[in-house]
Amino acid sequence: MKLYFHGGAQTVTGANYLLEIGGKKILVDCGLNQGSRFCEELNFEPFPYKPKDIDALFITHAHIDHIGRVPKLKREGFREQIYSTPPTKDFAELMLIDSEHILNQEAQHLKRNPLYTTADIIKALGSWEAVPYHHKLDFEGFSATFYDAGHILGSGFIVFEGEGKKIVFSGDLGNTPDPILKPTETISDADYCLIESAYGGRVHEDEPSRKAILKDVIESTVKSKGTLMIPAFALERAQEILYELNSLVEHKRIPKVPVFLDSPLAISLTAVYKKYGSYFNVETQKIIKSGDQIFNFSGLHLTMTTEQSKEINKVPNPKIIIAGSGMSQGGRILHHERRYLSDHNSTVLFVGYQVAGSLGRKILNGENVVRIFGEDIPVRCKVKAIGGYSSHADQPLLLKWLKPMKKSLRKVFAVQGEPEESGALANKIKEELGIPAEVPQLDSFYELA
Ligand code: ZN
Repeated sequence: MKLYFHGGAQTVTGANYLLEIGGKKILVDCGLNQGSRFCEELNFEPFPYKPKDIDALFITHAHIDHIGRVPKLKREGFREQIYSTPPTKDFAELMLIDSEHILNQEAQHLKRNPLYTTADIIKALGSWEAVPYHHKLDFEGFSATFYDAGHILGSGFIVFEGEGKKIVFSGDLGNTPDPILKPTETISDADYCLIESAYGGRVHEDEPSRKAILKDVIESTVKSKGTLMIPAFALERAQEILYELNSLVEHKRIPKVPVFLDSPLAISLTAVYKKYGSYFNVETQKIIKSGDQIFNFSGLHLTMTTEQSKEINKVPNPKIIIAGSGMSQGGRILHHERRYLSDHNSTVLFVGYQVAGSLGRKILNGENVVRIFGEDIPVRCKVKAIGGYSSHADQPLLLKWLKPMKKSLRKVFAVQGEPEESGALANKIKEELGIPAEVPQLDSFYELA
């Protein structure tokens, strides 16, 4: 068995692993490399393997740093099947189509040809098979099974068995307990494991505080008659915020105020969530059975068109606007930020990670003036953040997930993290669990005996 790290090594994004097992070459994830830009130049380089030689592609979940280069793989000669859970397939379609125009803009900026076209996306979806959790897929020479990773709806970790060995690819692991998802599953044995380490060196703040912070921020914005802007990722984060708002509204814990979900992508993705009721946790399923629509409440407006989005400006304060992109690198949030960042009665609330160099990070770092659409905008509004909204497991949760496999694991690879985070996790795995652990280099390979 041979394992190649062609992405996600010493970096959070661009997950792409090649496994040779039972005489076959398979890939796990084919994500976009992302940094201060939506799409880094690295994505335009050819793959370090021949796509036509690959026998199958397995996708852990639908975040763009795990699926963003799938159409490129197809374009460059990959001919075989793609496998993921059913929600991942549905989300992937919406995410890939949505990101295409941003990718085209980035390609123009870098003076490159587009990474792929809509036709490549359609071709990829045509050979994409949806497989439920726990269904063992048997191939010549190996098998594959998806388990619930609890990170976003439909996210999976994948167990491959072949050549008398078992290897686990964690994908991204959830920050259990999650407000809507089931807890991350565990398995009791494996020989090798790749584990994500985005927060491999950190401990998240206490979970209950996030709903309380959200409530406080809404109350104070309403009191000062301002606008509350929430830049949010369209997949999972937007739905989590809607879920919390639904609960706060239904229990009359916040004043009545119009809420705008100003993101066509988030609106379409939310519709997919409604298809997969059985994927939610027990409490959420109970709420749904009681007749409550968990992502809908009085005062919520979904704005699909640009015209509807512009109309939001005319609605008097106070109001709440949830819009993408999550790090203010583009999208409708920029129009709202241009208008309301200079208003000292308004608030911007960050509910997700803000990468260095992004507009979101600049605002969060307290810059007094930021540039939006070529205009200098003074930042006079309140700036708040809720850290506990991470959908990634922190160090204690990552160790807890590995523990049941402690006796059988021969080596663990810490991936999908910045070098310090991956290194901190690898050290802890060695010290606390006594398992050999490494942080692989990009494009390195290992012979797994
Ligand atoms: Zn993810």
